Amino acid sequence: MHHIETLPKPTRSIETDTLIIGGGISALSAKRWLEKQGQRNILLVEMDDHFGGNSHFGKNSVSAYPWGAHYIPLPDIRNIELIDFLYESKVITGFDSLGIPVYNEYYLCQDPEERLFINGLWQEGVIPEAGIHQKDKEEFKKFAALINYYKSAKGTDGKDAFTIPVDKSTTDDIFRKLDKISFKTFLDNEAFTSKYLLWYLEYCCKDDYGSNLESTSAWAGIHYFAARKGKGTNGNSGTILTWPQGNGFLMEQLKLQSSQSGLMCNQLVYNISNTNSGIDVSVYDTQKQESYVIHTKKAILTAPQYVNKHLLKNLIPEDKLNIYKDFEYAPWVIANLTVNKLPQLRGLPLCWDNVIYGTQSVGYVNANHQDLANSLKKVITFYLPLVGKSTDATRKNAQAKNYEDWLKIIVSELEYAHPGISTFIEHVDIWIWGHGMIAPRPDFIWGQSRRMAGEPINNKLFFAHSDLSGISIFEEAFYQGIKAAKQVLAI
Ligand SMILES: Cc1cc2nc3c(=O)[nH]c(=O)nc-3n(C[C@H](O)[C@H](O)[C@H](O)COP(=O)(O)OP(=O)(O)OC[C@H]3O[C@@H](n4cnc5c(N)ncnc54)[C@H](O)[C@@H]3O)c2cc1C
Repeated sequence: MHHIETLPKPTRSIETDTLIIGGGISALSAKRWLEKQGQRNILLVEMDDHFGGNSHFGKNSVSAYPWGAHYIPLPDIRNIELIDFLYESKVITGFDSLGIPVYNEYYLCQDPEERLFINGLWQEGVIPEAGIHQKDKEEFKKFAALINYYKSAKGTDGKDAFTIPVDKSTTDDIFRKLDKISFKTFLDNEAFTSKYLLWYLEYCCKDDYGSNLESTSAWAGIHYFAARKGKGTNGNSGTILTWPQGNGFLMEQLKLQSSQSGLMCNQLVYNISNTNSGIDVSVYDTQKQESYVIHTKKAILTAPQYVNKHLLKNLIPEDKLNIYKDFEYAPWVIANLTVNKLPQLRGLPLCWDNVIYGTQSVGYVNANHQDLANSLKKVITFYLPLVGKSTDATRKNAQAKNYEDWLKIIVSELEYAHPGISTFIEHVDIWIWGHGMIAPRPDFIWGQSRRMAGEPINNKLFFAHSDLSGISIFEEAFYQGIKAAKQVLAI
């Protein structure tokens, strides 16, 4: 941990035309786009010793495994930039005569995709079915019908009510006003009471946003379901693309599709200031333990806003700094467990995604799922969103726990659905994301703060991060990078 006051003073300087700060998906997407448009003399500086940010991954002798982002659903074919990227990445292998993508079978999540441990049994799919009443089933049907309406709904501007990227959704108030209320209030207004339906919807909010029904905006809650409109000759909107290393695969593809020059790790940006000819960025090299300044004509800042509020102190007026209090981030704990064997209870055998009804976690993913050799030894990636009233308090609580504390929590959840698993665990690595993902609280997505934080400064400094979309997914980070790159190119 470095404190800015204790960092050494800069002793040298370098120059570039465009500087990209950060090395996650949005940053790599920006670099790829700029280079595709013929831009050169670009530097990218990342503070960690690796690229990828929340799409980072690890590897051991059994498998590669994700530390964060692990899948994307098939994208909407109208998202041309993303479709082009997937084609270039050979995730899409071709198109049929109607222009529908053909997906590489190797990257489509193999069956069986997901299962739920409920009422003592592993059932197929995550929507509760085993042992639930007719009345609950009817509520699921009613919810599905409501989502179908929102999926095809359009605004008076001709735009979809719900789409990805978020910013391409209609501006019509009839839909946007759903952002003013919580998902819980929306569901109450629609008279949904089934405990199984409410559990399932909360599981979805936890899975995508790290938040619960009360703390998620209704617009965001609906968006999760209604914005998925992907198509493929060999898949549909519910189909998922995944890799053992999760979205680390897509991260590496972004890197491969741009020049390998100008990429620098271990470079922590700690200050940004304006000059007449451009911007001065102070950087601390965490390996060489020295500071230097980068003089750049333009910059794209892809750090999350909780970092930017410190970096921009000298650049924006104090009252504007206020907007950053509206950016709340859900903390997450991820564990990668190498197991010799997974003892099973009744029902469907191991799937890619395995969810346990009524627990705190959103379950675990089998990193070896795409492997054709079905060995007993596996790496499973366990996802625990830390949902609480205050994200700050939850984050502090998380930091106060040590490895053994987390291990106990994680193993006891797994023991519930896999009695005896403890004896088969070979190794466990645990990672805490203090600010894992932006939480779309009511009034955040269509509120002022999100829009203002993304506004360029002096036509020299541009912004890209998935938190500026209000929804933390690959597609948004990818879009944010291209959006900022286009702003740079437009000068
Ligand atoms: C637990 C978890 C699970 C997820 N699962 C999925 C999933 O399955 N599918 C999905 O699509 N998305 C998922 N996501 C969302 C994921 O965050 C996005 O898909 C995407 O990786 C975000 O990219 P980004 O560029 O917006 O941000 P980041 O990943 O936050 O990238 C920002 C980068 O900037 C760097 N940086 C920050 N400050 C500085 C500084 N001062 N100097 C230099 N560098 C700096 C950071 O180190 C980081 O590399 C998940 C996220 C989490 C936390």
